[in-house]
Amino acid sequence: MNEMNRKRRNRQEITPVSKSREWKLLYYEHGRPGLEDGSEYRGLCRYCELRETCALPRPEGGVWRCENYIAMVREVSLYEKVVKQLEEAVDVVHFDRDICKILAATMNELIVHFPVKMDDGGIKMLTGYRVQHNNALGPYKGGLRFHHSVDIDEVRALATLMTWKSAITNIPFGGAKGGIQLDPAEFSTRELEKITRRFTFALGNNIGPEYDIPAPDVNTNPQIMAWILDTYMSTMTPNERNRCIHVVTGKPIESGGSQGRHKATGQGIIFLIEKWAEDHGFNLKGATYIVQGFGNVGSWAARLMKKNGSKLIAVEDVTGAISNSEGIDSDDLANYVKDKGGVLDYPKAQPIDHETFFSTKADIFIPCALENQITAETAEILDVKLVAEGANSPTDPRGDVVLQRKKIDVIPDILCNSGGVIVSYFEWLQNKRSEFWDLEEVDHKLYKKIIDAYERVHDTADKFRVNWRTAAYIAAISRLEMVYKERGIFP
Ligand code: NAD
Repeated sequence: MNEMNRKRRNRQEITPVSKSREWKLLYYEHGRPGLEDGSEYRGLCRYCELRETCALPRPEGGVWRCENYIAMVREVSLYEKVVKQLEEAVDVVHFDRDICKILAATMNELIVHFPVKMDDGGIKMLTGYRVQHNNALGPYKGGLRFHHSVDIDEVRALATLMTWKSAITNIPFGGAKGGIQLDPAEFSTRELEKITRRFTFALGNNIGPEYDIPAPDVNTNPQIMAWILDTYMSTMTPNERNRCIHVVTGKPIESGGSQGRHKATGQGIIFLIEKWAEDHGFNLKGATYIVQGFGNVGSWAARLMKKNGSKLIAVEDVTGAISNSEGIDSDDLANYVKDKGGVLDYPKAQPIDHETFFSTKADIFIPCALENQITAETAEILDVKLVAEGANSPTDPRGDVVLQRKKIDVIPDILCNSGGVIVSYFEWLQNKRSEFWDLEEVDHKLYKKIIDAYERVHDTADKFRVNWRTAAYIAAISRLEMVYKERGIFP
């Protein structure tokens, strides 16, 4: 079989069985009468919203499709993107095709619909998700996100990234992710507590300290982890109650959390930026940086970066963007955001728009918000030397191509933000052993683990002459492939 056919066969076989929700919708909606006969479509296209230029409908594989809509859908399907990155690694290294088929699929997918009584006495139905991607290396592990964008496709993708993250950092966890589709700003604290507890109850034994261990992610925090722990414990027998404190990580310290967990993801990013600077003979003192997202990850990264004498010159969050070429004090901004809920109207900086934020000339960009922020368009105007991906999947495939063309270095997400899961592992270990490590010990162990992973990715990139994202995937998949080969497939 020639090389081209081998790659094609590999790709076909590891394509995920179930496509995103949008793909199914596309199939059914386009099968409606009037379009299938190929007659010219008149009026506003309901899929891509283009009246004049829409090439609808066109037959493809027996289904009539709007090409513009296909392009849009293909861009937003995060899970497809993650599988595509897996395929790229598979194309470079001749990984076992059967094992890659396993890794391209998720193991379990749970969708729960549950009622919660609101403050006004009314009932609201909510939808929650938990996807368990793989547990070959250890219990499923991954965050819970409260956001209106949460859906099965997003959760699948993020669960898969967690598997790579655990593999790359050599920790004995698999990958999972979950969340509830909601906007937390629309609920009172009391309602959020009820939602969290009811969701935990609905998940039941699908999570557990030795089976699947959630942690904080976007819009969730130590308080939410404490509610999950308390609810989970309450469903146990008295004998088991104190044996399940490690059912979640990222807890408040008093409830069994670890020193250093809250800042861990930001701390990991800074250790890696420092290592990158050392390797490139780059002086961080006086270097400039911009940060997108000023929540847990972004604010800690910004604050810890300050210790290197670097200057924060622009920040964007969901409320808006600000800049100050003289520098923004990250601690002061963190206090402001805690008080006001966002960076908007911060008095010691000027407001700027989204485009100006992305075109701000700086040495380092640390995206710490959501997925797909670095697109072909924003990558084109980025004027930085390094992108340190604090967020999960902040770069879309076309953005990635532009970053490579512009020779901007990238520390990829599955390495860059792995500090969170590393210290979650430390928290889990401390809970199991009834130990309490001090901050110095946690930071020291985090540094060692994350720099080990950096070296592994570095060596892999050199060995296969690939970019760091592909190298990170290769390093992660190599470990999983080895484990599957050693153990075989039951029965
Ligand atoms: P968070 O909820 O604490 O903060 C999210 C931030 O993103 C907020 O400042 C919000 O305003 C901003 N944001 C949201 N939408 C935005 C938009 N459209 N444009 C600009 N800014 C926007 O969440 P977090 O825990 O800091 O997570 C941030 C990212 O890091 C996510 O991708 C998450 O998956 C990833 N991550 C988090 C952890 C962790 O330990 N919390 C670990 C690994 C990866």
